[in-house]
Amino acid sequence: MGLSKEDRKMARGISDIIEGLDKLIFPKKPIPVFVIDNIIIRDENERFRYCATTSSEFRKIIQHKGEFYLIFGIGLNRRIKKDQRKRVMLFSGEDRFRESREFPFFSLKGILFTIASHEVRHRIFFHYPERAFSPLQIRYIHNEDLKALFLYVYQLSSVIYKEDTNSPRFRREFDAAIIEHVVAEKYYRGVRDIIEISKIISAGSIAELENYWKKIN
Ligand SMILES: [Zn+2]
Repeated sequence: MGLSKEDRKMARGISDIIEGLDKLIFPKKPIPVFVIDNIIIRDENERFRYCATTSSEFRKIIQHKGEFYLIFGIGLNRRIKKDQRKRVMLFSGEDRFRESREFPFFSLKGILFTIASHEVRHRIFFHYPERAFSPLQIRYIHNEDLKALFLYVYQLSSVIYKEDTNSPRFRREFDAAIIEHVVAEKYYRGVRDIIEISKIISAGSIAELENYWKKIN
């Protein structure tokens, strides 16, 4: 099998951003990104992964001990092209009340940054579970934009995962989705510096998140 030139290029683009963010957040212990070129995934939700250990599932294809990120490369270019036809969901001020068809399309780099942020946030969740965001925090959020963002992610996650909001998967994905949406909005509004983005990804409290939200809006 192997990857097409386009898939390979796209995989390189995302790997570079993941590795850049990971190095900033975990300077003492950065981990690699592996690109799989011989497995076709069935579920697009499975295309990017953070793996805390080399589980038996991947032991045959990856000779690596410890943590890593994974990208399934076959069909990646088509997937990203499809993402480019979606719109950025915005939550700031008046944008919060807009219809989704009025939202702008996202740039390629913006999409790659949000994907990378989601995966690196999974690593934060694993190492610092106390930093995790959850739907239970909604009542402590003062900022109306952020509150709307949390409620949106909560509804979306409930539809996608259809499981107990206490399940490990729901908790992990909710947390990463919050960060992904905050990064998407910030990126759209001009926060494109990898150091600034790495700080948002590391956020550990509602107060901190509200602070980033205000500071860069
Ligand atoms: Zn995820």
